[in-house]
Amino acid sequence: MENRRVRLRFAPSPTGGLHMGGVRTALFSYLFAKKHKGDFILRIEDTDQTRYVNGAEEYIINALKWCGIEPNEGVGFGDGPHAPYRQSERKELGIYAKYAQKLIDSGHAYYAFDTTEEVDEMRKRLEAAKVASQYNAVTRQTMRNSTTLSEDEVKKLMDAGTPYVVRLKVPRNEEIRFHDIIRGWVVVNSAQVDDKVLLKSDGMPTYHLAHIVDDIEMEVSHAVRGEEWLPSAPSHVLIYRYLGMEDKMPLLAHLPLILKPDGNGKLSKRDKSGIPMFPLDWYDERTGEKYAGYRETGFFPEAFINMLSMLGWNPGTTQEIFSLDELVEAFSFERVNKSGAKFDPEKTKWFNQQYLRKKTDAELAVLFTPILKEHNITADPAFVENVCHLVKEKAHFVSEFWKDASYFFIAPTAYDPEVIKKRWNEQSAGFIKAVTEAYKNLGTFTAAETEATFKATAEAQGIGAGQVMQLFRVCLSGVGGGPMLFEMVELLGKDEVIARLEKAVDSIK
Ligand code: GLU
Repeated sequence: MENRRVRLRFAPSPTGGLHMGGVRTALFSYLFAKKHKGDFILRIEDTDQTRYVNGAEEYIINALKWCGIEPNEGVGFGDGPHAPYRQSERKELGIYAKYAQKLIDSGHAYYAFDTTEEVDEMRKRLEAAKVASQYNAVTRQTMRNSTTLSEDEVKKLMDAGTPYVVRLKVPRNEEIRFHDIIRGWVVVNSAQVDDKVLLKSDGMPTYHLAHIVDDIEMEVSHAVRGEEWLPSAPSHVLIYRYLGMEDKMPLLAHLPLILKPDGNGKLSKRDKSGIPMFPLDWYDERTGEKYAGYRETGFFPEAFINMLSMLGWNPGTTQEIFSLDELVEAFSFERVNKSGAKFDPEKTKWFNQQYLRKKTDAELAVLFTPILKEHNITADPAFVENVCHLVKEKAHFVSEFWKDASYFFIAPTAYDPEVIKKRWNEQSAGFIKAVTEAYKNLGTFTAAETEATFKATAEAQGIGAGQVMQLFRVCLSGVGGGPMLFEMVELLGKDEVIARLEKAVDSIK
């Protein structure tokens, strides 16, 4: 195991849009693979055809691309030495049946002919008796399978084409021990483990068999997945053992759950915190439900990834902002917690804000310009950059720029009535007129000069600058809050400022 090449796979089932928990699994796998100069593989686990959802596979590929955590091998990423990487296609290679046969031949798996109704009835009977309702070492003795039927009977049923499944023969009372990199040693008694179906009646392997065969064949070194898979790990350990391939078993890492913001239970994809649960917009064509994506909501992929990295992992320092390269450098499974990680919507926005502030004005202008176009605004690129410079401090998203700063492009037609009611009177109106006149005489129109003139005029009028500051802002922008006032004045420019002040004096009654 020590000398194995590091190869991690992300193995989603295309049963819907990939939610952020899935992206975190992919991210941690990616980080570990890159850190150890290994491979990151995308395998599509589509053996359950009844749950197949159109578009899901494409969605997964696009989501990984947007996040910048691209596999170097697998579906959508140029395949590789172990193609195909879709289980439905791998079935055609006959590998799943071959491994199942090996288990049957060594007496560790068996044929079960029970109908769904018969299995249901068994479960009901056991539930009524208040015992674990599992198909296992005890109950299998009451069912129709190759452990209870004679060879002849089995042959007859097979010849008659009776549908059957292949089940794992789990021992009745044996200790199963395995190591998880995050959780340490886990010990389970086989009495808790059911005889999992390995091959379904349509010949398709179940997840349990298929992922093991593929992990072996693809030489996967570490299997990283959500905590919900921990209960089936003992069955998987048995399968490796019975195949005589324990040395091929990947190291296991079961990631902690992502919890609701209040810590009460698992985060749902229908969470109502207002923060998306999916990387990209997702439309579920079966249910007609629409889910907002981080991308479309205006999150930067770097911010999304950084936020996700902190859900369950910590660097052991107070550093919170990590680029993807820094994450690769810092990441280890030893620093992933066992206990659930609370999702924090405010912190998620905070991460985006940090990345927004890191962007240059020019980068932000590129993102803001299409929004301006939507509002039929064409403006001088340098002016747009300057607006971005002023509004970026307070915003979390570029999409907020228009709401916060449309007045840079369109003069106000309404003035915050609260401020007007409180501050507009003969004296303050007189001040606005006076400052307008004073501005007309200014040669250059910088923030410093306009501020000095503003203060001098206030003093000359015997009025406190603080009393007219917000009113002055409202006359210029229509709203009571915004960026640094005189920076805004400088950017609007002399002619525009004078025109807006004159218009305000005429309009406000
Ligand atoms: N197909 C499984 C899933 O959808 C993969 C679990 C695993 O990584 O083994 O989560």
